[in-house]
Amino acid sequence: MITKKTLQLSLKSLRDFAKKRLPDEELIALDERDECPEDIVRYMSNPDKLGIQLLFIPEEYGGMGGSTFDVYLICEQMARIDLGVATSLFATFLGSDPITFGATPEQKKKWLGRIADEGILFAYGATEPDAGSDLGALKTTADRVEKDGKIVGYKINGSKQWISNGGIADVYTILANTPAGPSWFIVEKGVKGFAHDKPEDKHGIRLSNTAALALNDVYVDADRLVGGVEGQGLLQAQMVFGYTRVMVAAFGLGAGWSALDRAIPYSTKRIQAGTPLSEKQGYTHKLIVPNVVHLEAARSYIEETAQRIDAGEGNLNTEGAIAKYMATEAGHAAADASIQALGGYGYTHEYMVEKISRDVRITRIYEGTSEIMEMTISRDRWQFHLKTRGQYYHEMGKDLEVLDARNPVVGAGTAALAAHALAEVMERARVGRLTRYQHILFRLGQLIAYTECAGSLARRAALAAEGELHEKADERFDATALATLARIFAREAALKVAEEGLQWVCGSGGVSDSDVAAFEAALGSPAIHRAQEGLIADMDYIADVLYSRVAKHEEAAALVGA
Ligand SMILES: Cc1cc2nc3c(=O)[nH]c(=O)nc-3n(C[C@H](O)[C@H](O)[C@H](O)COP(=O)(O)OP(=O)(O)OC[C@H]3O[C@@H](n4cnc5c(N)ncnc54)[C@H](O)[C@@H]3O)c2cc1C
Repeated sequence: MITKKTLQLSLKSLRDFAKKRLPDEELIALDERDECPEDIVRYMSNPDKLGIQLLFIPEEYGGMGGSTFDVYLICEQMARIDLGVATSLFATFLGSDPITFGATPEQKKKWLGRIADEGILFAYGATEPDAGSDLGALKTTADRVEKDGKIVGYKINGSKQWISNGGIADVYTILANTPAGPSWFIVEKGVKGFAHDKPEDKHGIRLSNTAALALNDVYVDADRLVGGVEGQGLLQAQMVFGYTRVMVAAFGLGAGWSALDRAIPYSTKRIQAGTPLSEKQGYTHKLIVPNVVHLEAARSYIEETAQRIDAGEGNLNTEGAIAKYMATEAGHAAADASIQALGGYGYTHEYMVEKISRDVRITRIYEGTSEIMEMTISRDRWQFHLKTRGQYYHEMGKDLEVLDARNPVVGAGTAALAAHALAEVMERARVGRLTRYQHILFRLGQLIAYTECAGSLARRAALAAEGELHEKADERFDATALATLARIFAREAALKVAEEGLQWVCGSGGVSDSDVAAFEAALGSPAIHRAQEGLIADMDYIADVLYSRVAKHEEAAALVGA
């Protein structure tokens, strides 16, 4: 187990290293040259140097056995430095995941041991030219090679597309169809018939190497079949989605905050119309505060999911999908708003936010696109809705009401309104069979993600007030600020569910003209509208926290009170 102190030391050495080796000018130059700094990636993976990958590897194989929570914090930190380099390091983690979760003990000892001891780089080869979101469509084949009636090896043929570290990895995990179905194979670089293409010329993460792979009659011994049993590949990939998506969520979080952490100080120095931009509500309440709220709602969900995975609750694939969806959408929106916040300067390379915006864009695509996340979330929670006869979100609402009674300032009451409204929307969708429209199914995924994050942020704020947050939890905001963030987000989630729920149910013919008023009442719209009261004051408070004006804010509030 990694102690808080060790983790903090690792995070600090990452920051110190980045300051020295990857300052802004170097990042800009590498980005412009479209160059992956392989030496830096190898230095960071070297167990005698930074050895970042040791955090990912279980102790029994020579690593440090970091928890999901530890790895989330490391991923966030890496993304704050550079998402391209972070992707390169993550590729080793992702590439070795089928081994960590599906390999035989001998395979684990050999390959995970080599990552820990030698710092070798991995690549994860799943995607193909015609198999992206739908991996089941993969065409790469692995034909058995038999001798005396015994399988001694496989011949792999096919091609892979968009593979991170594709041109620099030492070892590749390749998904290929065996006679018994998709399976992972371990392929070393340089073997006969195996080649990679030139690096892709990408929109962002230009510091990471992405390349197509070609496999022509590549022979591997039978002991390179991960787990030794054919047909387990998709299952092995599925087993880690909860975990890996939490990590990509942390990428969205880190990149989004890294952009805002440039926009916030900039706005204190930039004077327009006689005062700094940071003092203008029309600026802070549009470009800064909502993005902070969204990032912190996503962080809550990430932290909660990481904690649950570490507690042994299983794969939590849907929770991983919610975390990834919310954090990567929020990260991208924050980076885009940061360009706006810097005006013309934001649009130039020098100020970095445009690079961050290009970089973070990928997090909405790889490890499952945002639309696939919406589908995953919706399909799973739809089953819960059916199994509980429509009570799943009503029950969540009741739990939040209990929390509201315990702590009335964390927005739990409003989050409860969102949950009850969601239950009503889903029930209308069931009765009207509206999920036959794919768009409705996907929109439900978004409403579910917002509702669950609202509940999560309310719980996080309450735990902070009680001094019960995870010992390694992010400490940027104190309990009062977290409660304020939670209230703001809960209001948005509740309004979104009520209004968009109404829009999509009515829009797909799920409610008759005479029934609309009853549906509006069931959604609790008046209460949700009333809950918006206090929104501007709460946004003012968060702006004051971000700009270190809280003492002033409290003085002003005291004067108003007097
Ligand atoms: C820089 C980069 C690095 C990558 N690294 C790796 C890696 O290391 N290893 C690896 O295996 N892969 C990697 N990928 C591939 C990545 O995971 C895929 O690009 C991603 O899963 C999407 O697949 P696709 O590109 O084929 O898009 P598609 O699946 O064709 O999707 C195109 C669009 O259609 C939508 N869509 C897809 N299916 C549906 C549906 N059923 N209903 C409605 N809408 C749908 C998608 O949301 C998307 O908007 C990488 C990609 C990039 C760009």
